Amino acid sequence: MSHENKNIPDSLPSNPEIPDFKTLLKKQGYSLAGTHSAVKTCLWLRRSIKDKGECYKSRFYGITSRCCIQMTPTLMCNQKCLHCWRPTEIDAPAPNVWDSPVEIVGYSVAAQRKLISGFGHSAPRELWLEANEPKHVAISLSGEPTLYPYLPELVEEYAKQGISTFVVTNGTNPEMLKRINPSQLYMSLDAPDKDTYLKVCSPKSPDLWEKINESLTVLRDKDTRTAIRITLIKGVNMFNPQGYAELIKKAEPDFVEVKAYMHLGFSRKRLPREAMPEHGEVMAFAKEVANHLGYKIADDVEVSRVVLLSKDGKTSNL
Ligand code: SF4
Repeated sequence: MSHENKNIPDSLPSNPEIPDFKTLLKKQGYSLAGTHSAVKTCLWLRRSIKDKGECYKSRFYGITSRCCIQMTPTLMCNQKCLHCWRPTEIDAPAPNVWDSPVEIVGYSVAAQRKLISGFGHSAPRELWLEANEPKHVAISLSGEPTLYPYLPELVEEYAKQGISTFVVTNGTNPEMLKRINPSQLYMSLDAPDKDTYLKVCSPKSPDLWEKINESLTVLRDKDTRTAIRITLIKGVNMFNPQGYAELIKKAEPDFVEVKAYMHLGFSRKRLPREAMPEHGEVMAFAKEVANHLGYKIADDVEVSRVVLLSKDGKTSNL
């Protein structure tokens, strides 16, 4: 099998003029929530609050975008993925003291309300009021959430407040995955083999590939809804659909999301625009993964270049 890696740069660009981490996050529109968590409103929240569209998670899983907080309890990560939107060239500092789950829930809801306060005059009032009472939280954004030691309690605390939780993990911390029970557990799988994983994700240790494989079997045993997400980067990891399918079989997830890399944020410094596959290319790859897996195409959203696979060909609602 020849691996097509032509879009991987020989070395990551270094820029001595990159400002400190907090300044960078603020420049990107992140709002710090407490001492080490962050919140950011996404394009779809801004559209949804004006009744001008919903994100693909609305179609696939019944999420209302204007009621969704996008946050992370830590900006630290043990990988430096080529496709990451965050500035992986700078390590987020480890906090001296961790904020409690109760504090983080309070800070994140308050930060979200502050971020949408400006829409009070431009959005329909009932939608703006609805957005002020978040119902979902996507614990992903930037950084690896399983590095926050109280993640199980954080998920429980959001649930107590009537807020459903989507946790997105890179799969390097199987022990934590055993302990959390979010509404939906997403795991990224960005390579069909170890060699490609090391090139795409630059993990802190090569052994993290074995941890990812362990996490796949942890997912299989979860009662909560599970999804594997593949981010396809043209010329980098977009080959060997059978290899992806063989790994995914270990997890038996409810859903598989096959999604195009998006040329956004700091990833623009590492990958060319051409690394974004077209929707048709994502669909063709997703069909091959589905065939090897015995799954069906459940839905797709062209504007987001994403295809959903499920066992029975159906989408779901929370
Ligand atoms: S695992 Fe996620 S947060 Fe960490 S570098 Fe990769 S894409 Fe970024």
